[in-house]
Amino acid sequence: MSDHLVRGLGLDDEIRILAVDTTETINEAVSRHGAYPTAAAALGRTMTAAVLMGAMLKNEEKVTATIEGGGPIGAIVADSNANGTVRGYLGNPHVHFDLNDSGKLDVKRAVGTEGYLRVVKDIGLKEHFTGSTEIVSGEIGEDFSYYFYASEQVPSIVGLGVLVNPDNTIKAAGGFIIQVLPGASEETFDFLDARAKEMEPVSKQIDKGLSPREIINEAIGEKNWRELGEMPVSFECNCSKERFLNAISALDPSEIMSMIKEDGGAEADCHFCRNKVWIEKEELQELITH
Ligand SMILES: [Zn+2]
Repeated sequence: MSDHLVRGLGLDDEIRILAVDTTETINEAVSRHGAYPTAAAALGRTMTAAVLMGAMLKNEEKVTATIEGGGPIGAIVADSNANGTVRGYLGNPHVHFDLNDSGKLDVKRAVGTEGYLRVVKDIGLKEHFTGSTEIVSGEIGEDFSYYFYASEQVPSIVGLGVLVNPDNTIKAAGGFIIQVLPGASEETFDFLDARAKEMEPVSKQIDKGLSPREIINEAIGEKNWRELGEMPVSFECNCSKERFLNAISALDPSEIMSMIKEDGGAEADCHFCRNKVWIEKEELQELITH
């Protein structure tokens, strides 16, 4: 089955739980960026977290997550929304290291541990919610857990996993989030603490071919939750020639003139999807005369 997300409530509705398979979505992003395995894992984990956050939004709301840990990978940016579409980019996709001591991709080394995770939610009517926390791990999943706890005051368990094939395609990608809702009982906290210690890393679960529903079953037990919905997830970028023209029109007219004179037009390159668009000199000319 293609990429999808499942969300539900569990433990007598004291927790919210979401799980997602993002394998094809991350594969698309990684191939567009030409990312090496360690960079691919970092981008994939961040985009998967963005999808999970997007699924908690409504209507036209959007979320953008930025991770800047001071490592060789540079900044990672991912945005998503309530419709399950996501995109992302990173400063340097050509980062790869040997596996770490646990035999996993060394995401922490690529991301770095000196920096911040910032989340901006566009909740419409020009209103934004911004939260930011320091990087506590560099492995990204734990960084999002800490973010939810410290910035949004929602105790959360976040699992994110990406497995990369030897040819740099994505073997498996996905994740889950468990959030404790206000007024939850002591038993719920105790139960989750115990489960968190026993839970297999999500990358292993994905590798075994577990679906989002099965990941939730593994996490809290099949009888302990009820499903609220499912939605498809995909890579999608909303860039367009119009948007590029808009961005260029904000430049100084003299800069636009030099694009016309020196280059005979302009090539616009989208950070998120790496699509290139050629802007004709006549189109540039129009930006100046208006
Ligand atoms: Zn684009």
